[in-house]
Amino acid sequence: MAYIGHRCKCGHSDLHHTQDGTGKTLGRCTADYGKGCSRGCSRSIPEPEVIPSFDGKGRVVERVIEPGDGLASMSDSPTVRTCPCEACVALYAQVTATQPA
Ligand SMILES: [Zn+2]
Ligand SMILES: [Zn+2]
Ligand SMILES: [Zn+2]
Repeated sequence: MAYIGHRCKCGHSDLHHTQDGTGKTLGRCTADYGKGCSRGCSRSIPEPEVIPSFDGKGRVVERVIEPGDGLASMSDSPTVRTCPCEACVALYAQVTATQPA
């Protein structure tokens, strides 16, 4: 499984950051169990990229999650939704177009 996301300068994806609702800036990093990684976040949202994720056995799964769709959670935390912005949708269309159906 992989998903489209924006990787912050701190090394974590946008899913690890609080959203301020404007869609233009990343909020506080909530990696490391909500304490934040304190590695220094970029204020602006970077270009989206395909971020690989893994299934329970550590194998890379080919499917790319559609922007705005839910990400399966391995914990009890609420389902995370991937970024549905235009840039992510465009990248999704690009990567899925090159894959056999
Ligand atoms: Zn971080
Ligand atoms: Zn960050
Ligand atoms: Zn996005």
